[in-house]
Amino acid sequence: MPDAFADLVGQDEAVDTLRRAAVAANAVLRGPAPSPEGAAPGDPGAGMTHAWIFTGPPGSGRSVAARAFAAALQCVHGTGCGTCPGCHTTMAGTHADVRLVVPEGLSIGVGEMRALVLRAASTPSGGRWQVVVIEDADRLTEAAGNALLKAVEEPPPRTVFLLCAPSTHPDDISVTLRSRCRVVPLRQPPPDAVAEVLARRDGVAPDVARWAAAAAQGHVGRARRLARDPEARKRRDAVLAVPRRLTGVGAAFDAASALIEAAEAEAEASVAESDAAERAALETALGAGGTGRGAAGAMRGAAGQLKDLERRQKSRATRAQRDALDRALVDLAGFYRDALTIALRAPVAPVHTDTAAIAEAGAQRWHAEGALRRLEAVLECRAAIEANVKPRIAVEAMMLALWKG
Ligand SMILES: [Zn+2]
Repeated sequence: MPDAFADLVGQDEAVDTLRRAAVAANAVLRGPAPSPEGAAPGDPGAGMTHAWIFTGPPGSGRSVAARAFAAALQCVHGTGCGTCPGCHTTMAGTHADVRLVVPEGLSIGVGEMRALVLRAASTPSGGRWQVVVIEDADRLTEAAGNALLKAVEEPPPRTVFLLCAPSTHPDDISVTLRSRCRVVPLRQPPPDAVAEVLARRDGVAPDVARWAAAAAQGHVGRARRLARDPEARKRRDAVLAVPRRLTGVGAAFDAASALIEAAEAEAEASVAESDAAERAALETALGAGGTGRGAAGAMRGAAGQLKDLERRQKSRATRAQRDALDRALVDLAGFYRDALTIALRAPVAPVHTDTAAIAEAGAQRWHAEGALRRLEAVLECRAAIEANVKPRIAVEAMMLALWKG
């Protein structure tokens, strides 16, 4: 039976660290071990600490690692066996002492964080640890980061914070917060390891698994979607058709519009269902459709709550749009990277095996310099959007650069 760490692909070093920490944490629960020399006050034991940061590129498995470690902390055997009730409920997201924060919008606010810190300070109902997993900790607002820092600086004895962030760069995580956490770096998993897990866990045919693992460039979740979702494959095909369509200025602007609109449509589809459900649930809770004096009064206060919900939904939609656009840009960057490695005759496996012939033609026309300039144009577009340049402006500039070379 695979244990809690089985889905952490190609991360042997990190898994080793986490296993040892889980054993140390279990020893702490078993009883007072002789305090190691020089242990900081409040340090629960060698190998174990109250606050962790999991870093790595998107898709490397930051949140998978955090959840697996959370399971190991709640495991009745102290190992992350994968089968006991502690492991099982943690992996299923139903453990009473494991709180998972998945930001839906562009940032995690201070109110949300204060409430979380407060609840995390309570005694674990299962007798082990209170675990708080914060995905995308780089999206904490400054005030939320400070609220979290206070809790991390003086942690309740049985509380563990697990943060996930792209890196420990000050843009992603504050220096003071970073200094209080142990860092577990994850690397981009090699395509072979990704293909193996797709075949083993998801039952994907080996050749499809290999293609998807290469095309996803080490992003495990993306590889899984490409292998299993025809819509995701169709969207990828449309993106990879862009280089052939850039025949002039007009075509470049058309391609920019198509890329932006595809990202918008994808994002809308991904959030539409939850938006409608949330609104219906709130309206029911507020007594919409009721009659009488009470209902009328309730509706007046309700306007504010509906506004609040709309604001959160808008933030989530913007995030989903940016994520969709970024996936498209990563695919496009992979294509120009392929053209560059072909032009250089570098002995590197291509990202997109199915567009190898077009990349080859591009390499002949553009040579290495032209392929490199185009690759840089895509990467600059990503960076510009990350720095809050309006996506349409950044994408139009990129398309023009890709056309002109
Ligand atoms: Zn277990």
